[in-house]
Amino acid sequence: MLLSITNTASPAADLGYILHKNPANLFTADVSSGRAMVFYTEASEERCTACLLLEIDPVELVRGARRAEEYVNDRPYTASSYLAATMSRVFGTAMAGNCAQRPELPARALPLEIGVPVIRSRGGPEMAARLFEPLGYTVSVERHPLDAAFPEWGESSYYRLGLRARATVRDVLTHLSVLLPVLDDEKHYFVGAEEVEKLTRRGEGWLASHPMRHTIVSRYLKRQSTLVDQAFEQLLGSETSEVEQAEAVAEKAAHVERELERPMTLHTHRLHIVATRLRELGVKSVADLGCGEGKLLRRLLADRHFERILGIDVSHRALEIAAERLRLDRLPERQRARIEIAQGSLLYRDRRLAGFDAATLVEVIEHLDPARLAALERVVFEFARPRHVAVTTPNREYNALFANLPQGKFRHGDHRFDWTRAEVAEWTRGIEKRFGYRARVESIGPVDEAHGAPSQMAVFSLPEEAR
Ligand code: SAH
Repeated sequence: MLLSITNTASPAADLGYILHKNPANLFTADVSSGRAMVFYTEASEERCTACLLLEIDPVELVRGARRAEEYVNDRPYTASSYLAATMSRVFGTAMAGNCAQRPELPARALPLEIGVPVIRSRGGPEMAARLFEPLGYTVSVERHPLDAAFPEWGESSYYRLGLRARATVRDVLTHLSVLLPVLDDEKHYFVGAEEVEKLTRRGEGWLASHPMRHTIVSRYLKRQSTLVDQAFEQLLGSETSEVEQAEAVAEKAAHVERELERPMTLHTHRLHIVATRLRELGVKSVADLGCGEGKLLRRLLADRHFERILGIDVSHRALEIAAERLRLDRLPERQRARIEIAQGSLLYRDRRLAGFDAATLVEVIEHLDPARLAALERVVFEFARPRHVAVTTPNREYNALFANLPQGKFRHGDHRFDWTRAEVAEWTRGIEKRFGYRARVESIGPVDEAHGAPSQMAVFSLPEEAR
């Protein structure tokens, strides 16, 4: 696997000082996975290109293999955690920002071009742009054909990645060492607590504010929720992060709400109503926003009428449980093709949410404070803008009838608010006015004369002319 870095600011060969590798020499080193080389393909006044080549030792690679198919794979060729590990070994001094001979050089932002000839990009080619663009890179991604000699064979699942930026070499190497393994989404070594430390050190100054930080942290730490939590705690300091909050919410939601509502199995009833309405509206594709442990997803999946289903949640833990309950890894291919679950926050505009007939928000909005709710409203009604949106939320007036709920308390500890029927009606009118939807509100659960029903649902639809 190969990585090239080009400096285009004259004197371009300053790159040699910064990388601690003399352009006139070939540098070689034995690394744990094989042999690394650094050489220069050009070193003129205007352009200087350093290449890092890692030749993986195939015997070393299969030593840990358990199954026959693991002996033949893409690992020797695609930029991955092997390359990242080699970068820190070979360019360690540059990544620390040290240069004894020319101490002023490492801090200098240079016009740099980076080439990575072969990458895998889990999440599609646009994932590379989503990871690198927020850091100021211009990104190009080209798909490799399966075999250039046989174009009729079609395309492979590998890409060539090109990046340009005015940046310090140190920053570029650091970004690559984190984001290449994230893009590849596989790690060749055991990921433990020391990876959290490495990630927070390398992520200093950019990761906490990166719009894809959830994905980056989660993939880098192989979705181990304890490590992910730790990383966020360190990254965001004492501020409770949205992830921590939401994860706590999901867990509590599972227990407390279940306890309170058990006698009525209100939640089952609620899911039944949501699914039935969607079907009546002729909806074929649904994005379940804040899908939690996937109860609605399961219901939708069981109904062939729904052809495409997406579940989004900010909580990794909830998604892991969802994947397990839905038996995603054991579903027959045709079923599997209908459903996707993905981690994401509903507070940020997200292209993955576009193009669905309907979106659902089942018992989600009451977990958000007003500023966040306003952000979510725009994400859903303005940007994703599906034809229909079904929103359910508890009815506060009904709380009086829950024998085991103290007065003035929300139905569960993390609710930011519970609304009365009048408040729901008012919120609904606001959405209609601002985003051009029309809404119908209905009760969910047994209706009490004085207090109404335990839960309420608003179904928003876009009139023909507003689509
Ligand atoms: N809809 C599910 C879960 C409801 S609990 C059900 O009916 O069973 C609320 C869910 O919203 C939790 O899973 C929580 O993780 C999720 N959530 C809260 N804030 C979120 C946000 N900003 N982005 C995405 N999901 C969020």
